[in-house]
Amino acid sequence: MTEATTVRPSNLPSTAPTLHYQVAMPQPQSHLFEVTLQVRGWSESVLNLKMPVWTPGSYLVREYAKQVQEFWVDAGNKLKPLPWQKLSKNHWQIKTEDALDIIVRYRVFANELSVRTNHLDATHGYFNGAALFFFIPGFEQQPIRVTIIPPKPDWQVTTPLPAVGEATTNTFEAKDFDTLVDSPFEIGCHQLYDFEVLGKPHQLAIWGEGNADPERIIADTQKIIEVESQLYGGLPYERYLFLLHLSASGFGGLEHKNSCSLNYPRFSFRAKDKYNRFMQLVAHEFFHLWNVKRLRPKALEKFDYEQENYTTSLWFCEGTTSYYDLVIPLRAGIYDSKAFLEGLSKEITRLQTTPGRLLQSVSESSFDAWIKLYRRDANSDNCQISYYLKGELVSFLLDLLIRNRHGNQRSLDDVMRLMWQQFGIWEIGFTPQHLRDAIESVADTDLSDFFNHYIDGTAELPFDEYLEPFGLKLIGVEEEEPVPYLGMIVKTENGQEIVKFVDAQSPAGVAGVDVGDQLLAINGWRVTAEQLSDRLKDYRPGDTVQLGLFHQEILLSLPVTLGTAPPNRYQIVQVENPTDAQKRNLAGWLG
Ligand SMILES: [Zn+2]
Repeated sequence: MTEATTVRPSNLPSTAPTLHYQVAMPQPQSHLFEVTLQVRGWSESVLNLKMPVWTPGSYLVREYAKQVQEFWVDAGNKLKPLPWQKLSKNHWQIKTEDALDIIVRYRVFANELSVRTNHLDATHGYFNGAALFFFIPGFEQQPIRVTIIPPKPDWQVTTPLPAVGEATTNTFEAKDFDTLVDSPFEIGCHQLYDFEVLGKPHQLAIWGEGNADPERIIADTQKIIEVESQLYGGLPYERYLFLLHLSASGFGGLEHKNSCSLNYPRFSFRAKDKYNRFMQLVAHEFFHLWNVKRLRPKALEKFDYEQENYTTSLWFCEGTTSYYDLVIPLRAGIYDSKAFLEGLSKEITRLQTTPGRLLQSVSESSFDAWIKLYRRDANSDNCQISYYLKGELVSFLLDLLIRNRHGNQRSLDDVMRLMWQQFGIWEIGFTPQHLRDAIESVADTDLSDFFNHYIDGTAELPFDEYLEPFGLKLIGVEEEEPVPYLGMIVKTENGQEIVKFVDAQSPAGVAGVDVGDQLLAINGWRVTAEQLSDRLKDYRPGDTVQLGLFHQEILLSLPVTLGTAPPNRYQIVQVENPTDAQKRNLAGWLG
């Protein structure tokens, strides 16, 4: 879809059509939403309907149209079927035969429980607009009504969209298609909690059972809202909804302007580290209501729902948000600076143990999100780095850089505020250059080297150099009994020891071990995945062992020369005898 088709033509007739969707689910256990679209006052000979192929916030073409079935269309008042044809995978074209009122009916199969898809079963219905509704090219700016028909009288409807008419009609209105896509619906017997923060109404809706304590979650969420509001200077919405799905093992969040959808394992709220991880998820999705929902890269200023929207700035949209999801709970008093530094150390460990960090820059990772981050395979860690992870760590370095140059009187917070004031409030898209200009103006220095090396390049991040002024340093944690390095991960599957990952530059990688190989023996003796690291301790770096493997059913014996293992854990620790200046800097950063 080009820009011309996303913008409503200025010569649109004053009698623009009205659009009204009805969503029923008479047999929720069938996983089928029954959708009806009423178009009234249509005046053209054809009606084009297109379904988005992706949804903002999740940068992968998901082909939502594949779940559409039993498409049917008739002229509204005559119950006369109208001819239609498909012109592409997501494009239906109807010949209207001069009908002014047109009714389109279709079913959508909804059995994928994630924050970015649809899920309907006997316990609830949940949907995202992009995965359920068509848009009409040229009429995206038209308001759209949605009426929900719950299957049972005790099922309630919760959505960030404003209701119209009597509450019992379950009718809501989106001011345009973008808003409809940005407004998830939860339908069922979920628990609903109302609370107020800074004078504005908020809701927490919880579907599913588990060990979540809503009172505690709400109390901590209130603190997060206050801290983030303070950072940006107020809350840019009238009402906000947190929608929480408690599931068996899911994890995820999807941000919206006035709501977020969260998916978290149902029994992960008691253990402290898991609870903290949940509050980080809340802080992350809430932070997005500014960064990426309103403050957007140029490429996402107007969404093209029909194809990939490329930007090199996702490291800022997602990575900087990830840095703040670690910082915000600290500022909110949910955890202390020790837990914060432990969390940061874990992220550094993840980066430093991913070989792909030396091959792919974080701007390239951002651009290729559509084909790489969401489409991982066994080679991914060898050739790519997550823009979430590296974006988080370059944001951390930028924060330290700015704080150090300005004695903690400036920080990355000022970059966020400046970007918000220049672009976010107005929803004007920013370019990579705008972003760099804002960071350089707050830092008050030229950052060419930083961008060349760490954003657009693949140089190792110089953690120690940036930590030193704060009296901190990074150490690689030594194993008590070091394991000579082989460089592969093996797991037991159906009684077989299968190689799941090989570091391409490691002894195993160089020797030719492949992902999918079945490991049999070391020096002729059988070995299991569980025994592997213990058995390697019988050797020293530099020793050559014979690995017995099945490679595509061929029995191989490969000589592998063991190496010295790189650290598999890093930790940020205090330097000995920090100076007063270092202590001051640290206190200014972490409080
Ligand atoms: Zn995010």
